[in-house]
Amino acid sequence: MLSTNKERAIAALVSQGPQHRAALARILSVSRTTVTNVVQDLIAEGYMADDGESPLKSTVKLTEKLGVLVSVVFWIDRTLVSIATVDGRIVASRENPEKPGEIGKMRLAHVEKTIRAMLADLGAPRVCAGHIAVNTQINVRTGEVVGGTASSMWKDTNPLQAMSSLLQAPVRVENTARLAAFVEFERLDQPVDNMVYVHLSHGITMGNILGATLVQGAHGGAGELGHISIDPMGLPCECSNRGCLQQYVSTPAILARLKPILGAGATISDFVAAVRSGDHACTSVIEEIGEQLGVVMVSVTNLLDPEVIVLGGEIAQVGESLLDPLRRIVRRRGLPLSSRNVRFACAGQPASAQEMASAAFRVIVRDEDVVESIVKLAV
Ligand SMILES: [Zn+2]
Repeated sequence: MLSTNKERAIAALVSQGPQHRAALARILSVSRTTVTNVVQDLIAEGYMADDGESPLKSTVKLTEKLGVLVSVVFWIDRTLVSIATVDGRIVASRENPEKPGEIGKMRLAHVEKTIRAMLADLGAPRVCAGHIAVNTQINVRTGEVVGGTASSMWKDTNPLQAMSSLLQAPVRVENTARLAAFVEFERLDQPVDNMVYVHLSHGITMGNILGATLVQGAHGGAGELGHISIDPMGLPCECSNRGCLQQYVSTPAILARLKPILGAGATISDFVAAVRSGDHACTSVIEEIGEQLGVVMVSVTNLLDPEVIVLGGEIAQVGESLLDPLRRIVRRRGLPLSSRNVRFACAGQPASAQEMASAAFRVIVRDEDVVESIVKLAV
């Protein structure tokens, strides 16, 4: 429970980033004079700093004396380690390439070495909390990596336990694709209460953001859209189900469909270019993909009634050619209240490394316990 203005001021900057004094006064619903005094005390104690000479123009930020946050993002071929102040300003970042398929144990060892070196460079600050985004299904409570081909590289590892014991701080785990959902949420021009992001790649993963919170489910398994069946008699899937969406619209499935049209060496970029140039056969394929995706989106809109659904991943670069058939199916088969009102969009550029790290830091400070532990250090 945060009671004093000092505590509330720190909590506000942790949650919302550096602020002008006037904005901080509005957030805390106190007078400018009160904020000026609180900030002055916190600057004197070394927990806050001004970023300019004039108190009127400058923003106030939190210093490393309150500790830092650490984020690790694992992709198939690289790892990003970032360190931020508790108000979310990234102070150090390193992106290291990895051999695709490098085993998880080695990747965790590389990360440990990188984090130790980065923290040492910063004068060994206290770590308040961590975030790891792992490119597989992982139990967010226990860190157990569960099933599927994408999990094989993480065999016999527990990324959550490894990071928790390294950082000696609470660590939140996320699926990497679901963290990308939060990036898309932060990119929206107009804030919405409920957004669904669908990442189309090797697998098909959904991120559901409700009230600015990334929904994980009880164990972190919410949003495995790729394993929803669109045909009970369809192609067998590794999950033991039949007709799973990812058997038809994942990157490998699409490339297999394109083989007779574009040849064995074709890439998704070639396909996107062919659709854009109006290639007849490729246009038929994207229509079919849009319709197959649409079948699952009918269930998504009926279940969740989101305001907006954003499609991301390389295939989403085709834009309207994918959205048109998808929208048609949803409007035709979905219940009217949700299906007529939901908006669809394709993401722009893939999330940058900095956007992923920033999203991780924003997600960490949604946890009230983390915020409270930071505040308590200063009071
Ligand atoms: Zn499946």
